[in-house]
Amino acid sequence: MCKNGKLIILSGPSGSGKSTVVQRLLQESNLPLTLSVSATTRPPRTGERDGTDYHFLSDEEFNKRRLAGEFLECKEVFGRGYWYGTLRSAVSTGLNEGKWVILEIDVQGALSVLTDHPHAITIFIHPGSVTELENRLRSRGTESEDAIQRRLDVAAEELALRHHYTHEVINQEIHTTVQQLCNLLAQYQGENIPCSKN
Ligand code: 5GP
Repeated sequence: MCKNGKLIILSGPSGSGKSTVVQRLLQESNLPLTLSVSATTRPPRTGERDGTDYHFLSDEEFNKRRLAGEFLECKEVFGRGYWYGTLRSAVSTGLNEGKWVILEIDVQGALSVLTDHPHAITIFIHPGSVTELENRLRSRGTESEDAIQRRLDVAAEELALRHHYTHEVINQEIHTTVQQLCNLLAQYQGENIPCSKN
């Protein structure tokens, strides 16, 4: 039972600006949005805070929780040994409180969540072109050349799967993108979308 909670899955290639968009959306929307904080084994970047950006876990702790079935979905993203996962508790707590729970996860994770939550609102966000994506990744300056190439390869694969999403948003100017998302989500107000298959 989940009152009027809704699940929103937001994906997009690394460098598409989705984290910034989500933060602004959380600030500006008058909907009861909440972000599901994922767990990861990757080390925090400068400025990232445990419990806010991610739950930063050791490999052992992540594996323990995985085996205990605590993840709605989890996977190794980018093939460099770092795991990411959506905690069941983060999703169910939000939905039970009537919140609109945002999952900011990769495409494979999204497809996996959709099997349990086929009515989730799905949004794919991207910068419009691979060249633009590459520029953004480079200007962020947080990744090695190797990592950038890997992320661009994954981005191409993700872009090819965007037809699985109901909505596609091109993020060129943050204010416009956030407004577009607010309008898009407002369409679901009053709609009684089931939380999961059961
Ligand atoms: P980053 O390391 O840049 O924070 O995230 C890398 C990628 O992992 C992003 O595409 C992000 O959407 C994805 N990601 C973050 N959390 C999760 C999660 O819980 N599950 C899955 N499948 N992907 C995630």
